[in-house]
Amino acid sequence: MLAAMDRALSRRSLLSLMGAGAAGALAGCHARPGAGKALAAAALALGEAPGAAGSRMPSAFVGHGSPMLAVDPAKGADLSRWAASFPRPRAVLVVSAHWERAPATLGATEPRPLVYDFYGFPDELYARRYDAPGAPALARRVEGLLAPRGEVARAPGRGLDHGAWVPLTWMYPRADVPVLELSLPTQDPSSLLALGAALAPLSDEGVLVLGSGNAVHNLRRIAGDGAPTPSWAAEFDAWVEDVVRRRDLDALADYERRAPAPDLAHPTKEHFVPLLVAAGAAAGPGGHVSFPVTGFEAGSISRRCVQFG
Ligand code: ZN
Repeated sequence: MLAAMDRALSRRSLLSLMGAGAAGALAGCHARPGAGKALAAAALALGEAPGAAGSRMPSAFVGHGSPMLAVDPAKGADLSRWAASFPRPRAVLVVSAHWERAPATLGATEPRPLVYDFYGFPDELYARRYDAPGAPALARRVEGLLAPRGEVARAPGRGLDHGAWVPLTWMYPRADVPVLELSLPTQDPSSLLALGAALAPLSDEGVLVLGSGNAVHNLRRIAGDGAPTPSWAAEFDAWVEDVVRRRDLDALADYERRAPAPDLAHPTKEHFVPLLVAAGAAAGPGGHVSFPVTGFEAGSISRRCVQFG
């Protein structure tokens, strides 16, 4: 996986990046807006993240790219700045490309070892920790929201995969925001839009619903960082921007027919479809959409992040 990037970054340079204490330097840059009394009461009722605001949250999609993001302060700073630009969430519910399991399954609700689901990377990556609190009350809430859609399973021993912990390392570097993972139960876009819609009430409860994948993701076509972006990747990424900006969810759900070169952009679908969950979780039609991070890495891997609301 992204082996070219792996080779390009020497162990020595990795150590220097990690030794710089980059995460610590970025710690403390979250916005901490004052919490309204009613929202704070709602947050306390759910019993997690005392002191965190219960502000209305956006839903979002993060382009996580290579696991090397965990030790890349330049790319990481983009995510830190983004997360600091909206209210600090009471908890984060992550739907990652790296956990496909049906039925919809909730991961651990107390701290468990991370899942190092990548191979051939420098040893230092496998020593990384992200000891975020669990979110048991959020898990019960999600079960309640999804119950009308069918069974919701539990995987209490399942820690955070790198689609979750790598971007969160930069978004919330203090690991002090409770995190819960929800599996991708299907790759069907319409079903995932509906899943997101079922989760939409969480935004008003101070929960960040975060899809994690990449808007363009074809590991067979990766090149060195800084390599020119091929036209098929740029065109697919631009198509995503256009339909998302217009909130054309019908088109988004029909991307395999309407987008340019969908099979090149996504020879497998798991990195694209978490975007459908985030789009579905954006409450109601209309609403502001922004793209806080754009561009490419490894030539064709889109770094695009999307904020709904
Ligand atoms: Zn990935």
